[in-house]
Amino acid sequence: MKTQVKALVVGGGAVGTSIAYHLARAGWDDVMLLERDELTSGSTWHAAGLLPLFNMSYATTHIHKYSVDFYKTLEAETGLNAGFAVVGNLRMAQTQERMDEYMLYASTAETCDVPYVFLTPDEIKARWPLIRTEDLKGALYHHTDGYINPADVTMAMAKGARQRGVMIERKWQADAFRWTGESWEVTATKMVEKGGNLVPSDEQIVITAEHVVTASGNHAQRTARMLGIKMPAIPVEHQFIVMDQDPALVEFRKDHPEHPVIRDADAQSYVREERGGWILGVYEKNAPARFEYGVPDSFRADLFQLDLERIEDQYMAMNHRMPSAEDCGLKDDFNGPICYTPDGNPLVGPAPGLRNMWLAEGFSFGITAAGGTGYYLAQMMVEGEAEIDMASLDPKRYGDWMTTEFAARKNEECYDHVYILHHPDEERPACRPLRTAPAYDRQKALGAQFGFVNGWERPNYYGPLDAPDSFDHDSRSFRRGGWWQYAVEEARAVRQGAGLIDATAFTKHVIRGPGATAFLDWFTCNKLPKVGGINLTYALTTAGTTRTEYTIVRLGEDEYYLVSAGAWTAYDADFLRKAAEDMAGEFGYVEIQDVTSQWGVFAIAGPRSRDVLTEIVKDADPATVLGNKRFPWLSMRNIELGMCPVRAIRVAYTGELGWELHHPIEMQNYLWDQLMAAGAKHDMKLVGARAQNWLRQEKSYRAFGTELGRDATPLEADLPRFVDLSKEFHGKAAMQAKGIRSTCVTLLIDGPDDADPWGREALYHGETRVGRLTSGGYSVAFDKSIGMGYVSPELAVPGTRLKVKMLDRLWDAEIVEDSPYDPGNETIRKDA
Ligand SMILES: Cc1cc2nc3c(=O)[nH]c(=O)nc-3n(C[C@H](O)[C@H](O)[C@H](O)COP(=O)(O)OP(=O)(O)OC[C@H]3O[C@@H](n4cnc5c(N)ncnc54)[C@H](O)[C@@H]3O)c2cc1C
Repeated sequence: MKTQVKALVVGGGAVGTSIAYHLARAGWDDVMLLERDELTSGSTWHAAGLLPLFNMSYATTHIHKYSVDFYKTLEAETGLNAGFAVVGNLRMAQTQERMDEYMLYASTAETCDVPYVFLTPDEIKARWPLIRTEDLKGALYHHTDGYINPADVTMAMAKGARQRGVMIERKWQADAFRWTGESWEVTATKMVEKGGNLVPSDEQIVITAEHVVTASGNHAQRTARMLGIKMPAIPVEHQFIVMDQDPALVEFRKDHPEHPVIRDADAQSYVREERGGWILGVYEKNAPARFEYGVPDSFRADLFQLDLERIEDQYMAMNHRMPSAEDCGLKDDFNGPICYTPDGNPLVGPAPGLRNMWLAEGFSFGITAAGGTGYYLAQMMVEGEAEIDMASLDPKRYGDWMTTEFAARKNEECYDHVYILHHPDEERPACRPLRTAPAYDRQKALGAQFGFVNGWERPNYYGPLDAPDSFDHDSRSFRRGGWWQYAVEEARAVRQGAGLIDATAFTKHVIRGPGATAFLDWFTCNKLPKVGGINLTYALTTAGTTRTEYTIVRLGEDEYYLVSAGAWTAYDADFLRKAAEDMAGEFGYVEIQDVTSQWGVFAIAGPRSRDVLTEIVKDADPATVLGNKRFPWLSMRNIELGMCPVRAIRVAYTGELGWELHHPIEMQNYLWDQLMAAGAKHDMKLVGARAQNWLRQEKSYRAFGTELGRDATPLEADLPRFVDLSKEFHGKAAMQAKGIRSTCVTLLIDGPDDADPWGREALYHGETRVGRLTSGGYSVAFDKSIGMGYVSPELAVPGTRLKVKMLDRLWDAEIVEDSPYDPGNETIRKDA
């Protein structure tokens, strides 16, 4: 057995096998896969094998689509038939809300080239008469997906991998990982059978690998412990039952093809055919998390006891939907561990804090995702970046604040939510509140309805003071929800008076030391600000696309304060630290401190914001301290608001006159009370993140995670004014080599009366699809829907008329000049 390889993949389930295959296909000829037992002996063996294309996430839809297309090619390559039954997938809706969800999904599906059609209840009945349709509104039908045999597809990928030179070693368990500074030394133990258990023998070897990928399925917690990192990948019980033959189905099938996979989302279940009977799979309530602290040796390709009581509702619902199933007996049952993460997306990408260590863990739709994960992860490892932005799957989207208890309870919630209505304005309740800034209670008492940002509670909007606990839940919609009017009033307040926004969740880093200036000059693409000044800038990937957006404040000659998006603290910290370490030889030591939890942030904005601050600012000359001369736009000053020292930054993400007030977190309540008292004299309104998101689109401010990500360069985001081409910086040559593949634009949209886009909709020019929205919302300045997105460069011209696909119809839209509201930045620069 070889002991030195380029890449070692740990885990021989569908996911690890696909990764090994795709690494070899991408050109790495020295790849080994270790499996502690037999291939497919983890969750893969008992999966139902469904390959649903339906997914509300752009990246995941790409991943699933790749798998469905790729699996169809495997037989020709390997000679092995993976049993792909392309029977289609019928996703039914019992309510108009569910149809709204499908229409939103369908628009996203178009942006990923996933085909679909809508069917009426009559059309369903005509094709599949065994389905009860009277209480249906309709269905979404994918004809290209279906189901596959999970073990067979894994074996086919394994054969394809071997054909491409991959070494697959079974009964070897990775037991320890040591980074030497250049490669990983992985201690592997030979596993042997003992009384039905799989136990370690005394035989051990050390394998040296330049890169390691872990795809350890239900063993993720053990893997995390060995690596000294945290992973919120913990399995939950998942059940499906197999029924005896259904005579009506047998009769129907004499002259009809197989039924599609039938999903009754409102009944939390799916049904598919199996040898003349039905398989019923459910996503029920109260399924418990398992193996929080590891998988026992005695659990191999095993199952848990079936809990029929727990799935009674779904069973009854199946009998309602397929009345002929009612008299069929139970033939077989499966209750297995299905790995989850708190948001349902797997953890794919570089491990936090470690070099050349890649994670592919936490898969709940691992059969569907395996192909695409292998393909895109191999791109990341071999080429440096994937062609799609994989950030939404990055393992570092959770920080060190995450615990086992949090992950287990959140994963149970996520499982339970598989078939809920996936409102884009959804906020999930489990494990909350957890990370609260001091002003949380004050905000809550004033009607704040909170969103969950990387564990932090952040006001989304301020609802009625006497709102019942269910207010936010009941406000959700695929159209304009119950919260919409509150956000409109908040947005107007910022445009016309003053608004106060909590931005405490921002990620904040201090960078200092003799090498800090040279390092940051190389690390980011814009000019560095002068002492006391600020700049908006970007750090790029090696592929020249946007890795992170920073507001850089220069505190001293060699001291900087970097502010970036709140959701991405660990993601940004990891990138900064690794880059500084890599460049230490050139730039010297750079100290990097994550100060996110030490600083609270309030943003005050609006034409009257200066008046509010003047009430409480302490200065020898309070009348001028906030004026343009002493405090110009895009600068930082240390000021005192009452007794609170404040690092004030004159920027406003809403595009109004305004300041970000960074303050010691322990003085937050004091500052809040000061601002509230002063604001009361100027009709200041409390404003949440939703209004802010609309307002920034009126200024064409790109947001990280939507317009800005690893699939577009800052030049494609149309931000040349923040890119200093006269200097050398990380990713510059790659950015220039990419050219302009598509361009970011702002659109004003004549949409439906009761809905705005969410930022995932397809864009059309005539009959041709030409791009997609990445943000959407409502503009109070123009009294219509607004959006930002990417289109082909030749169309990215103000005045171009496009169409936006919303609610299954095309609506007129026009590309407008950047910053349609106050293009000259008059209001932001306004003097006292
Ligand atoms: C009842 C049920 C039905 C399901 N139905 C579907 C479905 O219809 N469609 C779908 O897409 N998904 C489905 N799933 C989910 C699917 O089974 C998983 O997402 C998928 O199998 C995960 O694959 P994996 O390769 O990540 O993990 P696994 O298949 O669990 O593989 C991990 C492998 O790593 C090995 N390993 C772990 N640690 C080590 C180590 N230290 N050294 C060496 N080897 C190690 C394990 O032995 C194991 O073989 C279902 C799950 C369940 C429970």
